Amino acid sequence: MSNILVFGHQSPDTDAITSAISFSYLQNQLGKKTEPVALGKPTEETQFALDRFNTEAPRVVSTVSEETDQVMLVDHNEKQQSVADIESVEVLAVVDHHRIANFQTANPLYYRAEPVGCTNTIILKLFKENSVAIPQNIAGLMLSAIISDTLLLKSPTCTSEDEQAVKELADIAGDDYEQYGKDLLKAGTNTADKTADQLLNGDAKNFPMGEHTVRIGQVNVVDVDEVLDRKAELLEEMEAQSKGEGYDLFILIVTNVLDSDSVAVVFGKDADRAAKAFDKKLSGSTMLLEGVVSRKKQVVPQLTKELS
Ligand code: MN
Ligand code: MN
Repeated sequence: MSNILVFGHQSPDTDAITSAISFSYLQNQLGKKTEPVALGKPTEETQFALDRFNTEAPRVVSTVSEETDQVMLVDHNEKQQSVADIESVEVLAVVDHHRIANFQTANPLYYRAEPVGCTNTIILKLFKENSVAIPQNIAGLMLSAIISDTLLLKSPTCTSEDEQAVKELADIAGDDYEQYGKDLLKAGTNTADKTADQLLNGDAKNFPMGEHTVRIGQVNVVDVDEVLDRKAELLEEMEAQSKGEGYDLFILIVTNVLDSDSVAVVFGKDADRAAKAFDKKLSGSTMLLEGVVSRKKQVVPQLTKELS
């Protein structure tokens, strides 16, 4: 029988890649035959974590139905964020911390969703519930994911369970999480040698909102102006991709990970409504979003309300 493939969302972030690794490991300990894969290459941040904890990046796939009938999804559920041929395979399990949308299955499945800051916080609970010990390197990867998703516990998505999980995992990994966390976040902020496409799509997702298709990318920086200096180039690329892919709205959230603010670069026919969602007016296609660091909690709900 072929392996059950375990994977996170497209344009994978650290949680998407490492939750596939940790959940696959747990499933294998419980007697399943699974393999973690990814729907894209690791970002620099994720690669930093993989190197630190001596783990190979998962194999990259774009389709799965030619090699398996069954999959497990982590860190996502919406089909437009999943593998291209998701409709051709059976979803056996989902572990996720996002909204549920566009999701239905033919068969019963294991579905674990909790409103915490990171999929790996849920997976830590699953290890405990099943009395499976976490190897040091996997604990380090899970720790990295929580640091990444919660911006070192500063995001409004972060819960007390995430904080507790960071402490427990840091103990197993043998790492001072505050110093490691800063190093990890900084590893993901190099923008100078990225193309406009990489800045826009390195961490981007599509969201259907009413009749609108909205693409929202996010890039973490320590110097916002380094990205904003390239605004003209970014807008040009956003226009081309919106035409090609049919986006009604394309937003890039440029987040300063040190002072926890963001500037949004906004393109599309719904741009003014996007600004209205935040009680803002666009100035040169951008707006400052004070205190905004979470796409999921501080951007998607506001836009969904305005556009639906
Ligand atoms: Mn993710
Ligand atoms: Mn996540």
